[in-house]
Amino acid sequence: MIKRTHYSSELEGGEEDVTVAGWVHEIRDLGGVAFYVIRDRDGRLQVTLPRKSVDEKLSERFSGVGREDVVAVTGRVKEDDRAPGGFEVVPESLEIVSEAASPLPLDPTGKVGSEMDTRLDNRVMDLRRAEISSIFRVRHEALRLTREFLCSEGFVEVDTPKIVATATEGGTELFPITYFDREAFLNQSPQLYKQMLMAGGLDRVFEVGPIFRAEEHNTRRHLNESTSIDVEAAHHDAGDVMSTLEELILFVESGLTESAAGELEALDRDLEPPEPPLPRVTYGEAVEIAAGEGVDVEWGDDLSTAAERAVGERVGGYYFVTEWPADIKPFYVQSDGDVCHSFDLMRGGLELASGARRVSDVDLLLERIDAQGLDPEGFDFYVDAFRYGVPPHSGWGLGLERLLMSITGAENIRETVLFPRDRRRLSP
Ligand code: ATP
Ligand code: MG
Repeated sequence: MIKRTHYSSELEGGEEDVTVAGWVHEIRDLGGVAFYVIRDRDGRLQVTLPRKSVDEKLSERFSGVGREDVVAVTGRVKEDDRAPGGFEVVPESLEIVSEAASPLPLDPTGKVGSEMDTRLDNRVMDLRRAEISSIFRVRHEALRLTREFLCSEGFVEVDTPKIVATATEGGTELFPITYFDREAFLNQSPQLYKQMLMAGGLDRVFEVGPIFRAEEHNTRRHLNESTSIDVEAAHHDAGDVMSTLEELILFVESGLTESAAGELEALDRDLEPPEPPLPRVTYGEAVEIAAGEGVDVEWGDDLSTAAERAVGERVGGYYFVTEWPADIKPFYVQSDGDVCHSFDLMRGGLELASGARRVSDVDLLLERIDAQGLDPEGFDFYVDAFRYGVPPHSGWGLGLERLLMSITGAENIRETVLFPRDRRRLSP
């Protein structure tokens, strides 16, 4: 195997001998001279074949090269302003490493557009486009920055089970599985387990992991398998963990403007990292704003998509919705009369995160489980964890893909996952 010595981004002038490798992105044959644009991880470079001055056999071998073949080319680097990247390679040898079948299922140059379904059916080819792979480099950087920030704030990264016996919220959005001779489920949230760790003394934890929800409907913001960034902190109230969340958003967005500048440019995104404190809109205010836009919400009902959009337009950018009616939030949320210590982080009507101060009193917890019509037996392991001393605690769950929609401007959540799982899609 011929070893690559340089990526496209590493070429420098000075008539050096290099070996470059990648996919043949484009071929332009002008007769006397032919240009082969090669694409690699970092971008593109031009191989220039001046037919008269190169070996005839080499010239012939180049005629056998097709679009999207993988090739390795050894040659001399020359500066040339007209070439992409500012350099061209004049070949001395060529190896066709792997040939691409034709026709191609989609056009990796992006000149011919493709439908979302065609793209996802051929995701590997789709990823060859710079704007598409940029999303996954931004995703990688966003996760790296998230870990850097939470670690610097004293959070410990943990992993909790994804095969569970009980529904987190008693909801119907669960995928049942067969666990030997019993029924089990794929976890819809690490909620119960991260809270139990508060009684275990880890004090501040975070988890980045998959959540599974049997959402029945196809929407542009729901997946059946997604990634949640979860945080739980002892001796923190809702306001404290809201600060952690807004500081995290600021840290990630500002970090990205430096470490993912090229990717953001490829995506045509100009981030304006939001300075804390973010606006806080109470649920009651949200209902009023929505009513002012002709969208009616009865106090006590969840905010509809139309209501959330109306509030998002009025407030602009990132904001929190706070002071929710207790009855529409899960049993583990601490309330104060009719209102509870719960919040959603929103942007432009899209929910990015939900969080709250939790109930840590065992009697109250049992009462709330009963009041929501849940089977208390299924929650024994969770409630028992709170019987021997548990600090007050709060936390949130932030959807990584929703955050990426906000950062990259993707209109459809499927853009932010390599191989999305939705109502119809289970392969690739
Ligand atoms: P929504 O109302 O948008 O369906 P939710 O309130 O049911 O979301 P939570 O249980 O609050 O979701 O989960 C915390 C976060 O996890 C959400 O704010 C969202 O960012 C993300 N999330 C939840 N469900 C999904 C899903 N099916 N696909 C993608 N992200 C999700
Ligand atoms: Mg929510």
